[in-house]
Amino acid sequence: MIDLQELLTKSLVAHDSQRDRSKQVEIGPSSLGGCRRRVYHELIETPQTNQTEKLAAILGTFIHSGIESVMEREDPFGDNYLREIEVSYGGIKGHVDLYIKSEGAVIDWKTKKKAGLRYFPSHSEIWQVQTYGYLLDANGYEVKTVSLVAIPRDGEMADIKVYTEDYNPEVAKAALSWLQELKDIVAGAGPAPDPEEKVAFCSKYCSFYDPSGEIGCPSTAK
Ligand code: SF4
Repeated sequence: MIDLQELLTKSLVAHDSQRDRSKQVEIGPSSLGGCRRRVYHELIETPQTNQTEKLAAILGTFIHSGIESVMEREDPFGDNYLREIEVSYGGIKGHVDLYIKSEGAVIDWKTKKKAGLRYFPSHSEIWQVQTYGYLLDANGYEVKTVSLVAIPRDGEMADIKVYTEDYNPEVAKAALSWLQELKDIVAGAGPAPDPEEKVAFCSKYCSFYDPSGEIGCPSTAK
């Protein structure tokens, strides 16, 4: 009898590892304002020291591509709903989930657990979406507002939460200087920033978690 849990797990992990990943170290907007130590390890290309739990991220990717195709039905030629635009500026590249041309609106979908909605949006998510706005702005798109839309995987339609604020390039610039500070530490061979997350999170979700602290990061608590 086929072990169906194993079949599904293996297929999901194989699919995930085949996804196009740039070999070059490039910090995307989603890392801005998160754990500084983690971005530091990404920048210095520390080898992976931990197998992370991937189901939520894989489901998140599936939900994103599902939403992209339903948006395509709404606007088949992408005249107004521009999906998955790749934009870069100043050494940072981002994929914008949706830009609505007629509104100058930038939208980022976030998949969550319903219980996590009370922390939505996080400071880092706001930095991320403002940075998408900044990248679009720098590439000639008119940007007026930025929005984050939280989709609870275990919730109902009515639980979907929308957060919108005016586009503010100063917020994006603050996010980019946060990243620049880390790049400066690396360039000057400065000390690694202190860990910022607790072991319960790190052991499940951080590829650099390393209880010994010899190669990766031991987290805030052992
Ligand atoms: S193990 Fe935790 S504290 Fe360390 S880099 Fe990863 S997320 Fe940050």
